[in-house]
Amino acid sequence: MVTVDVDLARCTGCSHCKDVCPVNVFELRPRDQFPDLVDNPDVGAKFQFRGEKSVAVNGPECIVCEACLFECEGECITITDDEGHIHLSTYK
Ligand code: SF4
Ligand code: SF4
Repeated sequence: MVTVDVDLARCTGCSHCKDVCPVNVFELRPRDQFPDLVDNPDVGAKFQFRGEKSVAVNGPECIVCEACLFECEGECITITDDEGHIHLSTYK
């Protein structure tokens, strides 16, 4: 089974992942649902944190097209495929 993880501390809420995913893996949720979360300052130095965070709600549906990995400005998505191979965000 494919798993999709988002490092929420790095997620800027840019919505690129949700916009490009063909199988609706991601859902944007209000930032205030994660009150204990500390936004990553290295990401914040480069990008603006918006009012939402992206949660991978349908990870098993992922077809590992890697579209989200190229578009994730926070470089915070990690996908583990059926064979256990790890695919990382490659925005830069
Ligand atoms: S790699 Fe998976 S989660 Fe990412 S856009 Fe493709 S199907 Fe969606
Ligand atoms: S593309 Fe990355 S930074 Fe942007 S909302 Fe999705 S997980 Fe967060």
